[in-house]
Amino acid sequence: MKINKNFDNLVPNYLFADVAKKTADYAAANPDKKIIRLGIGDVTLPLAPVVVEAMKRGAENLAHKESFKGYPDYEGYAFVREAISGYYKSFGVTVSADEIFVSDGAKSDCGNIGDIFAQDNTVLVTDPVYPVYVDANIMAGRKIVYAASNRGNGFAAMPDDSVKVDIIYLCSPNNPTGAAYTAEQLKAWVDYALKNDAIILYDSAYEAFITEDLPRSIFAIEGARQCAIEMCSLSKTAGFTGTRCGYTVIPKELARDGHSIYDTWYRRQATKFNGVSWPVQCAAAAVFSEEGQRQIKENIAYYQENARIIASALDELGIYYTGGKNSPYIWLQCPNGMGSWEFFDFLLENANVVGTPGEGFGENGKGFFRLTSFGDRENTIEAVERIKALLK
Ligand code: PLP
Repeated sequence: MKINKNFDNLVPNYLFADVAKKTADYAAANPDKKIIRLGIGDVTLPLAPVVVEAMKRGAENLAHKESFKGYPDYEGYAFVREAISGYYKSFGVTVSADEIFVSDGAKSDCGNIGDIFAQDNTVLVTDPVYPVYVDANIMAGRKIVYAASNRGNGFAAMPDDSVKVDIIYLCSPNNPTGAAYTAEQLKAWVDYALKNDAIILYDSAYEAFITEDLPRSIFAIEGARQCAIEMCSLSKTAGFTGTRCGYTVIPKELARDGHSIYDTWYRRQATKFNGVSWPVQCAAAAVFSEEGQRQIKENIAYYQENARIIASALDELGIYYTGGKNSPYIWLQCPNGMGSWEFFDFLLENANVVGTPGEGFGENGKGFFRLTSFGDRENTIEAVERIKALLK
């Protein structure tokens, strides 16, 4: 018996464990201090009432012989896919219900999609990066190249024609930087992918946070249907981090190497995935109802206001940052040339505020720091006041 040796190539990432340990140690040594956590990447508001009602009705269906449900369709129930298709239509993008796969979330799909691609493809990620893209491809033994997102390009890495890759992960609005690509920038990526016969894996997990006139989907870009797969999630959009539901869109005409990508992914899902539970799919469909959209937008607006509060404090302090406007994340340059961990300690000890050191997300995160808007309003305001008092 041999283990998959690619796992030996994973670089241990103790980012969140180290943050948790340092915070716990500080709290234990300073029990009188009120620590505010602005590092969390998880939502804190409860599910919308209309979503909970739909989930309860779904659970009740399972209690009766006439309405009981067994295994769902591999690609998700048609009424959920129709609802998602309608949602795309609401922002002007045409995606048909039979191009959608309902899943248990974007993390699984971002990682599992690699099953359908050969091992000798080269993968591009933008750096700093959501670590799942990197680790999933290291596990599969693929070569990874990094496109630098930095202050010079506004944390929006662009394609380099001298570099040839086969698979491109893009995340917009981005985790961790909060930066969102313009249509023009995405068109450059689509053109690059078409020229290189590459496939873009587009993670739109934060599209619901976009407030400006920016693309909500890669399929808003001409040519994307010939080169892109999109993964989205209800986790941040509708508070489904614990409920688990997302979706992946694969245009029917997308093909590579003589194979339909849709058909290949369908085959993979049919083999390794048995679908999302009935109550959760009922809840997911409710998210896309008129009332569901109204209710989830209230929650999103709450987080957006937190983000605005944090961003305006950084404006006042003259600190460079990206995000905040079209994203729940605010990515800031550590003041006074401090390193990511140095600033983490400084903020924890002097303001009792916890954030996430940027260097945990890659080389280009060094000297940067991530704050999130997923906390509650009162604590966000208090944290911001403390940061302002400390850095003024
Ligand atoms: N993609 C990005 C960029 C994320 O930041 C996250 C969660 O933090 C996910 C995907 C995971 O989404 P899900 O909860 O649907 O698995």
